[in-house]
Amino acid sequence: MKQILVISGKGGTGKTTLVAGFVSLAENAVMADCDVDAPDLHIILKPDIQEEIPFYALKIPVKDESRCIECGKCREACRFNAIDENFNIDEFRCEGCGACAFICPVDAIEMIDSEAGKLYISRTRFGPFVHAQLNIGEEASGKLVIEVKRKAKELAEKENKELILIDGSPGIGCPVIASLSGVDLALIVTEPTVSGIHDLERILGVTKHFGIKTSVCINKFDINKEKTNEIENFCNENGIPLIGRIPYDPSITTAMIELKTVIEFSSSQTSEEVKKIWSKIIEML
Ligand code: SF4
Ligand code: SF4
Repeated sequence: MKQILVISGKGGTGKTTLVAGFVSLAENAVMADCDVDAPDLHIILKPDIQEEIPFYALKIPVKDESRCIECGKCREACRFNAIDENFNIDEFRCEGCGACAFICPVDAIEMIDSEAGKLYISRTRFGPFVHAQLNIGEEASGKLVIEVKRKAKELAEKENKELILIDGSPGIGCPVIASLSGVDLALIVTEPTVSGIHDLERILGVTKHFGIKTSVCINKFDINKEKTNEIENFCNENGIPLIGRIPYDPSITTAMIELKTVIEFSSSQTSEEVKKIWSKIIEML
């Protein structure tokens, strides 16, 4: 079983549009959305949710007031100043280390699971789909990404799927690093702007560090030919395969509004280019 991850150095590069196009073309695949902070692949895939699984990131302390003898030991033990002078616990400061529960002489504090988000296993018109949503303000996105990948792999094994197609998080942070594990090929989607090139260099640094085979494609290549040339030269000089150039195409927005993938929507130059990129990805695998 092979894993393909589509990433970008930042949001707004058209990454999910491209992934949705691949989803239309992939055969015998499980899809996974690892952008757990702001997932959007489900908008086009319109999943029928079959299973909803709570995600617990860490344990939080809960105090039983009736047992507390106000000795103050929990406040002394807390390194995060999360317990005030009245021995109330501030959930926003708490890091869930458990020291307060450990030190409490009368067992007034219990560490309980705290739900940080949800993981979903769904069916779509293209096949099985694993996705998730982290609750607002939660920080365990890397952990949830690992869960999404674990479930996708489990599903692929159970249903004899040959491929896991993953929509990654934008950026180079913890969720992206978590999504890279076990990946056979990463495709970076970039755009021809000053920040686009900078973000491309940063994300390439990450995939190189983890020794992952990487290729690049440029979205809206025709909005700035000079920057497109710069990206092409950069890829050539660094031996990174540039496997596609997608033109600026307003019909992509129309496809999104109609909740269709670019392949389902029309047989435009864009959809032809997406098909070519997909063929090259399969060749590279
Ligand atoms: S769990 Fe740790 S961080 Fe949270 S209140 Fe207790 S001692 Fe402080
Ligand atoms: S250590 Fe336990 S008994 Fe002491 S103040 Fe904290 S909760 Fe109350």
